[in-house]
Amino acid sequence: MIPKEVSEAIKSISGIIPGDRVLRDEPMSAHTSFRIGGPAAAFVVTENEEELSAVLGMLSETGAEHLLVGNGSNILVADEGYPGVIVRLSGDFESIEQDEDDPCLVRVGAARLMSSTSAFLTGKGLAGFEFASGIPGSIGGAVFMDAGAYGGEMKDVVESVRVMNADGTGLRTLSNDEMEFSYRHSVAEDSGMVILSALLRLAKDDPEAIAARVSELAAKRNSRQPVNYPSAGSTFKRPVGGYAAALIEESGLKGYRVGGAEVSEKHSGFVINTGGATAEDVLAVMRHVREKVYEDSGIMLEPEVRLINCSL
Ligand SMILES: Cc1cc2nc3c(=O)[nH]c(=O)nc-3n(C[C@H](O)[C@H](O)[C@H](O)COP(=O)(O)OP(=O)(O)OC[C@H]3O[C@@H](n4cnc5c(N)ncnc54)[C@H](O)[C@@H]3O)c2cc1C
Repeated sequence: MIPKEVSEAIKSISGIIPGDRVLRDEPMSAHTSFRIGGPAAAFVVTENEEELSAVLGMLSETGAEHLLVGNGSNILVADEGYPGVIVRLSGDFESIEQDEDDPCLVRVGAARLMSSTSAFLTGKGLAGFEFASGIPGSIGGAVFMDAGAYGGEMKDVVESVRVMNADGTGLRTLSNDEMEFSYRHSVAEDSGMVILSALLRLAKDDPEAIAARVSELAAKRNSRQPVNYPSAGSTFKRPVGGYAAALIEESGLKGYRVGGAEVSEKHSGFVINTGGATAEDVLAVMRHVREKVYEDSGIMLEPEVRLINCSL
């Protein structure tokens, strides 16, 4: 049963967004890297700031539950799905543009993938983004949680971020400082603001040298991570005073399995979907891992994966 305010919001949204971009009962398993998740009441694709602002305005007016998603590579959606509206960015939000006056500055739309951003920057001979080339998210999702890898993080390359409020008002630009970046966190997480694009500052370098570094990191990632299985990357955040993967391995949980969900044998920081895993399977693995690691080490692991309409 869809809540009344959600039906109302979908009706209003359908008045301004073409029907092929307002999908009803859309399975979230098609939009998440875990390949898990039941249907969203509606899945709305917005292609520019004007549309997004209008859609967010309608959602906030009706009070309908909603969530903005990027590439779905850091979320676990409940098997029952999501009883509200999922908003996704596309079109103009996939743009990438080098500044005419300062070639080391590049504006990237929130929906553009990290991999294609990296390819663009490598081609232009712009270095500094290599660390992010293998992160399978969007720029918006990466800025939202200050994604990082191999010693780099988004806060190292973000000059400023264009945002709007959760209700579609208040278009503005925030400086790197104002984004309040910290480990896997930014101010967007606290305020619900939407990231529209990021201005990145890079450094000039030889394209071949950049490409070599990107390849080296890709080889490292492929050799250490279970990249052939659906997952959401690291399941837990790095705790103070340790590494989640090491703690999980020390607790003898490599290969621990419930249904189709498994603590990866290759990298115990990842819970993988070995085929047909449900969200409940993943949650059961996560609960057991947390309990056992706490029992053995006294450290309570906190999820890095965002749980949508489900909980531990
Ligand atoms: C195989 C694999 C490897 C990974 N490796 C890494 C890694 O090395 N380092 C790392 O940090 N992460 C890693 N991840 C996790 C994930 O890719 C990152 O967290 C990524 O930044 C998520 O981006 P996304 O666009 O997929 O966000 P989603 O999963 O779609 O969303 C995550 C959160 O961001 C919010 N969000 C998304 N876009 C916006 C926006 N435009 N405005 C406001 N909020 C927004 C959503 O509401 C949600 O709360 C990995 C994942 C996988 C599957």
